[in-house]
Amino acid sequence: MKPQAKSPVTKLPPPLTAADYRRRLARLQQEMIRAGLDAVLLTPCTSFRWLTGLALHRSERLIALVVTAKGAPAIVCPAFERDRMSGNNLAADLRTWEETQDPYPLVHAFLSERGLHAETLGLEETTEFRTVVGLRHVFGFAGFSSAARVLAACRMKKEPAELAHMKAAIRLTHDALRAVARKLRPGLREAEFGALVTAALAARGLEEPWVLAQFGPTSAVPHALGGARKLPRSSVVLCDYGAAFRGYQSDITRTFCVGKPNREFEKVRAIVRGAHDAALGAVRPGVSCEAIDAAARAFIADAGYGKYFIHRTGHGIGLDLHEDPYMVKGNALPLQAGMTFTIEPGIYLPGKFGVRWENDVVCTETGGEVLVGDESLGV
Ligand code: ZN
Ligand code: ZN
Repeated sequence: MKPQAKSPVTKLPPPLTAADYRRRLARLQQEMIRAGLDAVLLTPCTSFRWLTGLALHRSERLIALVVTAKGAPAIVCPAFERDRMSGNNLAADLRTWEETQDPYPLVHAFLSERGLHAETLGLEETTEFRTVVGLRHVFGFAGFSSAARVLAACRMKKEPAELAHMKAAIRLTHDALRAVARKLRPGLREAEFGALVTAALAARGLEEPWVLAQFGPTSAVPHALGGARKLPRSSVVLCDYGAAFRGYQSDITRTFCVGKPNREFEKVRAIVRGAHDAALGAVRPGVSCEAIDAAARAFIADAGYGKYFIHRTGHGIGLDLHEDPYMVKGNALPLQAGMTFTIEPGIYLPGKFGVRWENDVVCTETGGEVLVGDESLGV
């Protein structure tokens, strides 16, 4: 589906080019050399997409991108997929297999030609067990390395074009909720409201729309899927929602009150917003991820609600909705300019309501910056 071209919120960045993908390949190869990995194998996943631009579904038929620290990569794929795979932006060497053939010897042959062995082959971290079994069979070796760190090192810091894509996703996501929030009426069910939000996201050309629409006590349970609860005259409404633009994800939460003002809600929301701002204010290069979590947590604890903040403060975001780096106690990773992540503190009062306030943020050289903020929902 093509995004609509008329609204000012849909000023879209140009698509990535083959040169962008080739630069990414070179970046991965540098990281591989640093980590002592001679080769990395990826089956269809977001890192596969990050490297090639190909958004593929994973299935039982092996498609594998094999990147070596030097030289062009190979893609092992079914013969009938050759045309589709030729759209990779890396000039990869296509090695095809027929339906009656075992594909794994092709991986082995490619690495053997380059004089490489299984000991220095890293697997993308979500590789399926059946793929590992297939590789083990031809290599006679089980102890493959994980390529998680080299891939995360490449993907955590976003390029300017990636930030532009994320901003487009977030702008359109805000626009969708703004349009739908006006339709909140007493009697509307959570699931019906959720369906309106996802339809509005899809109508803006976004991919993979999703929503958690929670009214009143449902909002006190993080990740509860809203269902049959009807909106009363006055209620807290928590809406956590997002979608993707050319694969780049948005993830926003807004909590507001409809009907009669609720003083306790206003107090709790001010604390949650304060915690969000405290975490945002702590963001700068060199500060650890856990310090961002601590900043939000201290603010909520000081206000007396510490035991009601029951999850981490945030997660990295990009081609994956949840990716490195995670804003959580125990993660000493220092932030770097270009890293993108959510800041989403919350307070959940069982049986009453919950408040979460979530923005997608980038660490810049000078501090944290919300990627397209929108405070006005018109409710
Ligand atoms: Zn969220
Ligand atoms: Zn989130």
